[in-house]
Amino acid sequence: MTTKILRFLAEQQPSTPCLIVDLDVIVNNYNAMRNFLPAVEIFYAVKANPAKEVISLLVDLKSCFDAAGRQEIEQIIAAGATTDRILFGNTIKKQKDIAWAYDHGVRLFAFDSKIELQKLAQSAPTSNVFCRLLVNCEGADWSLSKKFGCDIEMARDLMIEAQEKGLNPYGISFHVGSQQTRIDQWDIAIGKTARLFFMLNEAGIELKVINLGGGLPTRYLNDNIASINSHADAIMSAMVKYFGNKMPLMIMEPGRFLIGNAGIIESEVVLISNKSYDENVRWVYLDIGKFGGLAETMNESIKYSIQAPGDGITGPVVLAGPTCDSADILYEIFQYQMPLSLKVGDKVLIMTTGAYTASYSAVNFNGFGPLKTYCI
Ligand SMILES: *Cc1c(COP(=O)(O)O)cnc(C)c1O
Repeated sequence: MTTKILRFLAEQQPSTPCLIVDLDVIVNNYNAMRNFLPAVEIFYAVKANPAKEVISLLVDLKSCFDAAGRQEIEQIIAAGATTDRILFGNTIKKQKDIAWAYDHGVRLFAFDSKIELQKLAQSAPTSNVFCRLLVNCEGADWSLSKKFGCDIEMARDLMIEAQEKGLNPYGISFHVGSQQTRIDQWDIAIGKTARLFFMLNEAGIELKVINLGGGLPTRYLNDNIASINSHADAIMSAMVKYFGNKMPLMIMEPGRFLIGNAGIIESEVVLISNKSYDENVRWVYLDIGKFGGLAETMNESIKYSIQAPGDGITGPVVLAGPTCDSADILYEIFQYQMPLSLKVGDKVLIMTTGAYTASYSAVNFNGFGPLKTYCI
């Protein structure tokens, strides 16, 4: 799977740090989703990796898109998708961006609050709207709980209000949390959503779509995660259990699953040091850190597999980035092992970094530019 990337690195010797994305892996992931969840329409969550080549590829694969703002929508349109394939899924939108999207033909919007609903009614009349339901994201390594969604009673009232305001109450969305490792979370979230469907049914509103969000995991260091087919089974069993023969249309917004394992970052060791004669902690500083694209190492949430050259004996290290900010430490509590022979100038490969890296990299912190991406 990585041979194409390794060949590229060997032949091109790009300067580091850089992210190499193998587009073939995205195609495989996309097809796996199609295979295991054939009834689910895919809306790629652009924030995971907005590279032009990635969006174009997904346009060609007939994917739809979940966009967070005007700029992402512009990127999707520029790549050739029509706006009927775009969901403006962010629940926190400026009124003028809603109006802009509506003028450009976007008719799918998400919201989770009364004021956002008012904005939509005003600037996106008659659009199809999703209300996002608050779910508990337990088991997710990168939780999206609390900030998004509203509780079930509020969602019910807001959807009734949506209809009164001339919008089309179209569906319910949720996100079980990114890198979700517990497949039973699907049952909980789908069960709650079904309850809301029936509550609205009693109020005379027939919803059409369940938006299952993201959450499908990719495989990081030591991750014993369930496969796509186990997740698909859990999703479909819950759908049958709670909706029976009144199955709504299903959509999903994968980000990490589609692109995480398609990318590898190459980085260079800039410095290796100790802090005192007494303490033998080996600090290894790379040319990429939290601000260069590895933001998901925050609280050591996502643990990437890192390959360093040399086999011999290994020892624990503290891994840090190159910037002048003491927050720029990647892993300290979790002890990575690196060869004792590791030296300055060695190249390391940070695996499974296709998602949530380049899009997070700072534009100019300490003069370090954004993470360069090569799509091959
Ligand atoms: C980030 C996000 C996604 C993608 O989540 P993954 O866990 O990467 O699949 C999907 N939907 C929404 C609304 C998001 O904000």
